[in-house]
Parts: sequence; C-alpha cells; structure tokens
Amino acid sequence: MGLYKYVTNRTLPNKAGEEKGKIKVLVPNDSDTAQVDYVCPECEFSEHREQEWARPFVVTCSKCNANIKIPKLKEEMKKEKQREKQKQKRLEKKMLEERRANSS
Ligand SMILES: [Zn+2]
Repeated sequence: MGLYKYVTNRTLPNKAGEEKGKIKVLVPNDSDTAQVDYVCPECEFSEHREQEWARPFVVTCSKCNANIKIPKLKEEMKKEKQREKQKQKRLEKKMLEERRANSS
C-alpha cells in the first residue's frame, strides 16, 4: 500500500468530446480530504483545491461552474467492490468482538 488510498490522473473530454481538461486527485490514507488539481474541460481554467473526499466525486469549476466528474474505470470498480467486502467483514468482526467485550 502506498501513501494514498485513492490516486487518479485523467484527461477529461468536454461536451464536444475534445480532451481539453485534466484532473488529478490524491487522497492520503489517513485523511478524507482530497487534493485536487484540475483543468476545466469547458473553460480551461485550472486550479488546485482541497475538498472532502466522497463518492461519486464531483468538482465544480470555480470559473464556469461546470461539474467535473472522474470517469470510472472498470478495474477501479472491481477493486472498490472488493474493498467494500473487506470493510464489511471487518465491521462484522468488530461488532462480534464488541458484543463479546460487553457481555463479559
Ligand atoms: Zn470551467
């Protein structure tokens, strides 16, 4: 595992289908704040921003208010599903342990 729980670097097509924009997102392992660098595909305004990490992740361009979404990759969706499963398992285990601790 690296330092980041989520890393992406994508080109973004505008409404006309031209790849004019870019987005880079880094989310550190110990944080829920995403470090975002983007170039708006609609107006080519670029900016660095920090914003709360959420799914789906949408950045609104500060200049033209275009909604910039990260295109999902199939591979990522698979990984995410696996992660969700693992998270669920961990939660179940934790609940069991807590129950045990409470009853003693
Ligand atoms: Zn824009």
